[in-house]
Amino acid sequence: MLVRRKHSLDATKCFNKNLSLHGRAAGAASGGTLSLAIVADLLALFLPLAFSSPLVTPTLAQSLQQQDSQASSPTPNPDTSTEDNPLEQTCNISGVPSLQLTKVVGSWVKAANWVEKPGMSMGRLIQKFGPQMMAYLNSSPWPDINHQARLARVPVIMYHDILPQKEVFFDITPEEFEQHLRLIHDNGLTPISLDQLVTHLRTGLPLPEKPILLTFDDGYESAYKYVYPLLKQYGYPAAFSIYTLNVGNNTGRDHVTWDQLREMTANPLVTISAHSVTHPQDVTVLSDDKLRMEVTESKRIIESKLGIPIRYFTYPEGKYDARVEKFVQEAGYLAALTMNDLEDRFAGQSKNLLAIDRIGQSKLQDAIAEAWGGPKLPSWSGGFDFATPIKVTKVTIDKNRLIVVSGGRPITIHANSRYQVPQIIAGTNAVAAVDGGFFSLHYLNSNEMIGPVFSQNENKFIPGLKYENMRSTGRPLVLISLQAVRFIPFDPTKHNTLEGIQAEMPNVTDAFIAAAWLVKDSQPQPASHFGNLVDFKIARNRAFWGINQEGQPMIGVTLNSVDAISLGASLAKAGLRDAVMVDSGASSSLAYKGKSLMAHLVGYELRPVPHVVALVAPPSANDSAQIAPHPGGGSGTCSFGRD
Ligand SMILES: [Zn+2]
Repeated sequence: MLVRRKHSLDATKCFNKNLSLHGRAAGAASGGTLSLAIVADLLALFLPLAFSSPLVTPTLAQSLQQQDSQASSPTPNPDTSTEDNPLEQTCNISGVPSLQLTKVVGSWVKAANWVEKPGMSMGRLIQKFGPQMMAYLNSSPWPDINHQARLARVPVIMYHDILPQKEVFFDITPEEFEQHLRLIHDNGLTPISLDQLVTHLRTGLPLPEKPILLTFDDGYESAYKYVYPLLKQYGYPAAFSIYTLNVGNNTGRDHVTWDQLREMTANPLVTISAHSVTHPQDVTVLSDDKLRMEVTESKRIIESKLGIPIRYFTYPEGKYDARVEKFVQEAGYLAALTMNDLEDRFAGQSKNLLAIDRIGQSKLQDAIAEAWGGPKLPSWSGGFDFATPIKVTKVTIDKNRLIVVSGGRPITIHANSRYQVPQIIAGTNAVAAVDGGFFSLHYLNSNEMIGPVFSQNENKFIPGLKYENMRSTGRPLVLISLQAVRFIPFDPTKHNTLEGIQAEMPNVTDAFIAAAWLVKDSQPQPASHFGNLVDFKIARNRAFWGINQEGQPMIGVTLNSVDAISLGASLAKAGLRDAVMVDSGASSSLAYKGKSLMAHLVGYELRPVPHVVALVAPPSANDSAQIAPHPGGGSGTCSFGRD
């Protein structure tokens, strides 16, 4: 424990120092030194307590340094006096553990206030790294897995021995193993360490686009002879589960020696997990004393032999129960690996950190095809970017085929009757549009909407009818201005007048009521949030629009039928921070440059509509819109996870 604590504090110190340099720059720019002081304070107190792993904490510091080097904030002047900078003091006192502990409760109160008001006068730097810190502050209570991490698909692959001549089915040859590494490389996967995985599972911080974790059980000599050299050659991290009794023991199969393990663990690519002392077939049937010995002694022996902290346990044969978990927790492990022959689950689908699931190496190919590092971080600033060129993207996420148009600035158009969407935008400056809010079906050619509507082409606020307003209570009221978009719950007592919506957004230019939230604050919405919405569980074509993590507007439709819940999950993965459903079924329609993008793809005539959400090109941009059928990873403006 002492070792860990020291490492963490060092990391925090270095982290504070990093912050303090920028305290001057950002503080000078915005007058936000108070906020910065709180941030630094908070980190100094929080990180060592939350993350006892010496490797985990520096990860954040490193990543912040990287972000920092990308930021264009003014270079701090090294001659500036430290006296006017409260952050230097924080840095200097951060080596006093008792002070940190006593101050932590008070700082939580500060943290809570601060986190709720991110819009205060923070410097640009804070906006830049805010999401990372938010993720740390919001890390799930141990041993729970963070809800963001549950969306990711991280395969943890389990290997045993590697032998030139296979003896049992789960052995593989060195040639086969190298083929696996080539497959991982050629498919663009990024092997991660067990520390990275556990940080991700606790905080939801996204991993590389296609992550994978390699693990090797039982400490065979092949770990040193074949695996370790190849890991070094490829630069891939991995975890090795060692049971202590057979280290250096060559009766039966050959095993690694302590010397070999020392050599391996000197390399940061290698993580060791304790795998018991004697490798019992089933630890759940052991007596308390025997079980405690297997769990705690293996940790103690490996730590003393290798001189490193052991933070992870691997259940022999994957077997565990509540009692075993409790012993593992009491022994001070941060997480535990299991395995299940019947079900292949990604790490995020594991029960919790004390039972991280793995997948047998024979399933590597399937796992590679599925691997995904999870949704991008929610945007901290909540800012908007209405100045990027408009572009069309087709993407398939979780079997949902989507066409989305992103970029430009959003407007709405309320037509005088019902038309096909391309007709509505013909002759306007809109480049693309999706059918908008719900409309009344009472009269065939009526442009009557359900709920209030305010569109800049009419510049006239049309209140909704009382009965329909009541039924729309709580649905997303969409408010658009030249600079921003808000989605707020519709309240008919407040939002059925122009003054009422101006109270929510003073320079509002457009407003209407959408059907339902699909994604809210980067979270896909569960079934319980859809209320009385008709047919939300039924698979239909659906139209949606929202704001992505970069603050750009996106409009789109599904080309296949999909229920609203799984559409929300796909849109969160597509990088939408907020998205609402505007319509579903036969009137779902998306137009781009005068043409329907779906009419020829669905087998029916689309229903004419009176209202659209449209995108107009940014004023200065040339019309650089283009069809991009395969976004892959290269686009940069569209943060899709998968094609
Ligand atoms: Zn084993």
